[in-house]
Order: sequence, then structure tokens, then C-alpha cells
Amino acid sequence: MTILDGKKISNDIKDEITQVVAQMKANGQKTPHLAAVIVGEDGASLTYVGSKVRACARVGFESTLVQLPESITEQDLLTKIDQLNNDPEIDGFIVQLPLPRHIDTQKILLAVDPKKDVDGFHPENFGKLALDMETFIPATPFGIMELLRRYDIETSGKHTVVIGRSHIVGRPISILMSRKGQPGDSTVTLTHSRTKDLAAYTREADIVISALGVPNFLKADMVKDGAVIIDVGITRVADSTAAKGYVITGDVDYKGVSQKASYITPVPGGVGPMTIAMLLQNTLLARQRA
Ligand code: NAD
Repeated sequence: MTILDGKKISNDIKDEITQVVAQMKANGQKTPHLAAVIVGEDGASLTYVGSKVRACARVGFESTLVQLPESITEQDLLTKIDQLNNDPEIDGFIVQLPLPRHIDTQKILLAVDPKKDVDGFHPENFGKLALDMETFIPATPFGIMELLRRYDIETSGKHTVVIGRSHIVGRPISILMSRKGQPGDSTVTLTHSRTKDLAAYTREADIVISALGVPNFLKADMVKDGAVIIDVGITRVADSTAAKGYVITGDVDYKGVSQKASYITPVPGGVGPMTIAMLLQNTLLARQRA
């Protein structure tokens, strides 16, 4: 069994980006600049945004954190997005989700200039992804594809079962795995909360990509010997013995499933760090395409 070391691979990618940025600077070119918009004080969101901003510094990018109050109106947020769209200094930006309830998320994501949409959430970019066109692939599915690619895992003709159909993970990864190319060329089954007898699908799977957010959902008796297991789940589970009062838990019962898997991602240290590396990669692409 091989552990898919997302921490190591993400560091490799960051090193590669650092070199490209150093070369850009040496050539007198503009440094990539990522902005992150956060509305409100949600603890997990602040942690994620903080890691993204720190990652920018690590590779030599400029970054701007736009912190807005929970009470901001939808119109004021749209105005801020318009400013970022039109700011030539900013190459790409993200709007950290979830947004407060009084703000229409779809409306906000639609307002982001697709050329600066480094999260790849704009319908124009999502449509391009489905049509094999140049786009920004959402960072988490992009990270999974990059892990499969760098570990040279055969995906052609394999049966990939995805659990979860969210717009940011399950849906796009199901499309990517079915596209032509390596990784890709997979026969994909997309399962979700209404799937009957889900285990019947996962037991047949050569590759399982789990993105549902239910701790330890995928058990050893639900996978076949030699399966490749990608665990996207990140759930904070209360634990009074942990320093932070919680532990990060994946969707996969790692202890049991790792006994049967040929490759498996740990949580933490698997898909999570890859997501940040691919956001940086998308920001670099945004600069290079500008
Ligand atoms: P979501 O919460 O938007 O949707 C969950 C999906 O799982 C839904 O499509 C639902 O149909 C399905 N689902 C729920 N319960 C199910 C069940 N019992 N059986 C089968 N399907 C079920 O999902 P999301 O935003 O994609 O997040 C999923 C998980 O991935 C969460 O734990 C999230 O924190 C994590 N995540 C991790 C990263 C990362 O960087 N590693 C990035 C994004 C999301």
C-alpha cells in the first residue's frame, strides 16, 4: 500500500512555482497577485483563508486579504468584486464560501470576472471544463488529478466511483475523470445521498473518490482489494484530548480501508494541501494568461 503524500507533492508544486516566480521577477515581469475575500468571522473559513495567504508568501506571490463584516449588503459586496475585477494589480481572486445567508452566493460567483476566477466556480469556467477547453479547474479536483498524475496511477478503463455531487468537488471530479487523457479515460459512477445500495458500487470500484463530509463513512467492507482511495472529507470532530478541542477526520475509515487499498490519501496531509497548491497554480496561470 502506498500513501499518497499530498503534503510532499504540494511542497514540490510550491517549489516549482517559487522557481517560476523568481524567474518572472528576474525578467522584470509582474509578480502574481491573489486576493481573497472573506465575509464574517467563521473560524474554519478564517483558517482556510489564512493558509492561502501564507501559501502566497511561500511562493513569492503578492496577496491581499479583503476582510468584510458579516453585515455587509449584497450590493456592497458586488461593488467590492467589481473593484477587484477592474484592479489591474490583482491577477486572480477568490470569495471564501460559505457566505452569510442574506447574500445570494450564485449572484456573487457570477459577478467574478471569469479571467480572474481562480477557484473555477464561474459557470463559464465550469462549462469550459466540461468541454475540455482551457479554464481554471477548481482547486480540489485539480489537486486530485495532480496527485493521480504524479503517482502515475493508471486510470484509463478503470471504474471510478465518486461519492458526493457538490459543485466544488464531486461533480467536477466526475467530469474530469471521464475526460480523455491521463488521468482520465475512466468509467465514472457518480453516487450521492439518494443512491440506493451505495456499497454495491464502491465494492466494484477500482478508484473511489469520497467527498461527502461524513467521518469514517467508507469502511473496509465497502471497497475491493487493491482499490485506489481518495479521501476528500474534512470534518472537525470534537475531541477533548486534542489541543484544539477537535480532530480533522476524513470520510474514510483509514485504519480498515488502508489494509485493502493499493494507494490511499491520509487526512490530514492528502487532498487538503493539494487544494492550496492548485489554487497557487491557478493564480500563476491567471498571471501568465493576462
Ligand atoms: P457538500 O457538503 O456540498 O455535499 C456533500 C455531498 O455528499 C452531496 O452531494 C450529498 O448528496 C452527498 N452525501 C451526503 N450524505 C451522503 C450519504 N450518506 N451517502 C452518499 N452521499 C451523501 O460537499 P463538499 O463541499 O464537496 O464537501 C465534502 C467534504 O469534502 C466535506 O467534508 C468538506 O469539508 C470536504 N472538502 C475538502 C476539501 C479539501 O481541500 N480537501 C475541499 C472541499 C471540500
